[in-house]
Amino acid sequence: MRQAELVFIPTPGMGHLVSTLEFAKRLLDRDDRLLITVLSMKFPSSPVADAYTRSLTASQARIQVVDLPQVDPPPSELLKSPQAYRCAFIESNMPNVKHAVTKIVSGVAALVLDFFCMSMIDVGRELGLPSYLFFTSNAGFLGLMLYLPTRHNQANGAEFSDADPELLIPGFVNAVPAAVMPSAVFNKDGGYAAYIKLAQRFRDTKGIIVNTFRELEQHGLGSFSDGQTPPVYPVGPVLDLKGQPHPGLDRAEHENIMRWLDFQSPSSVVFLCFGSMGSFSATQVKEIAIGLERSGQRFLWSLRPPGLPPSLPSPDDILPEGFLERIEGRGMICRGWAPQVEVLAHKAVGGFVSHCGWNSILESLWHGVPIVTWPIYAEQQLNAFEMVRELGLAMEMRLDYRSGGDLVMAEEIERAVSRLMDGGNEVRKKVKEMGEMARKAVMDGGSSFTSIGQLIEDMIGSS
Ligand code: UDP
Repeated sequence: MRQAELVFIPTPGMGHLVSTLEFAKRLLDRDDRLLITVLSMKFPSSPVADAYTRSLTASQARIQVVDLPQVDPPPSELLKSPQAYRCAFIESNMPNVKHAVTKIVSGVAALVLDFFCMSMIDVGRELGLPSYLFFTSNAGFLGLMLYLPTRHNQANGAEFSDADPELLIPGFVNAVPAAVMPSAVFNKDGGYAAYIKLAQRFRDTKGIIVNTFRELEQHGLGSFSDGQTPPVYPVGPVLDLKGQPHPGLDRAEHENIMRWLDFQSPSSVVFLCFGSMGSFSATQVKEIAIGLERSGQRFLWSLRPPGLPPSLPSPDDILPEGFLERIEGRGMICRGWAPQVEVLAHKAVGGFVSHCGWNSILESLWHGVPIVTWPIYAEQQLNAFEMVRELGLAMEMRLDYRSGGDLVMAEEIERAVSRLMDGGNEVRKKVKEMGEMARKAVMDGGSSFTSIGQLIEDMIGSS
């Protein structure tokens, strides 16, 4: 049997790592000719990501993790755009990536690149290797990225502005307002330029692997058969359903949460969690607390201090006076890394107030838990728009909230939570049905299962 090596180049950040590494494992389970090397770039702030990569790959004999040497961080003026900073950092890793790939002795078949690593296509070319993009988000956002170079030419290279008219983007049924575009495309300090540079390379890949499934994004996926886009492989949902132990997860708190959920009635608890980087100002935290209290609903609220700047007081100090005593028994606050997948899987959980990160959306669909939308950063506004307006699979609170400045008042939160927990709503039924389809898609013979087979064939040929 001839073996073939795939070289994965992910970027740190839980939202990207979880599905990328999980997908790597799925490829290995699927075809025993495959070997995988994961190149681990050393970002200035990636110890959590490093630990996670190690724990996830430790049990897999056919995955090896190669640590790349530390490089100097990019100039600090690039920090005006996190995306530009990240791309510059990745580019400075190119010589190290090239060196690491040439040292792999077994035959390397292809590179599998993260969204931010499009510059590595050139390393692949120098070595005569094709590159695939592993897109950790959805077909809707992929549609926007593929459309960006066209819009860039039409707009003579201008960044987006709030006053822009709605856009007709292939893959979207509805016109898309500027207010739901990713923050980066408004950024004049490098963010827009970084996105354009990435988007211009998408069509230089041999294939685009997307963490979605055909039954969910039929229309969006259909728009890629335009003759100009490389083959698109919907392979999802790719989820880490076991929820690897995260270094930020506090064991005692975890057990406490699960025990508390065990005592609640089915579908009676609303879960609030805002992703790996989601945190709010002290004023916003107060409004959430008041809204939750007034709603009268049972809740589990992930209120994480690590996201708060150190100068802010601890969550206990910013909650309204007497709040913790009044909600005792009815509400619970999780201060560390929340065991989100396990929580969403619990029968007591009946609704999710989410920042609409794509992994969170897929996890909630999988477990049939409806979402109320509260997007904060990255492409979350576009995800929220798609889920609410395009697919009717989430309930709208905000579609265009952005971190910094915006404030959602207690009354709006109270109303949204009450509506979400109203058992008879249509969205709940649709979400449950989509959850069933998600499970079928990854089963033997399902749409994503078949698509992974086609991908492997394209990568290394049939056996
Ligand atoms: N997550 C978690 N506990 C938390 C916050 C996040 O388990 O307290 C997980 C969540 O289940 C998901 C991932 O981290 O798998 C976050 O990815 P997503 O795409 O939703 O958002 P991002 O963090 O990239 O904004």
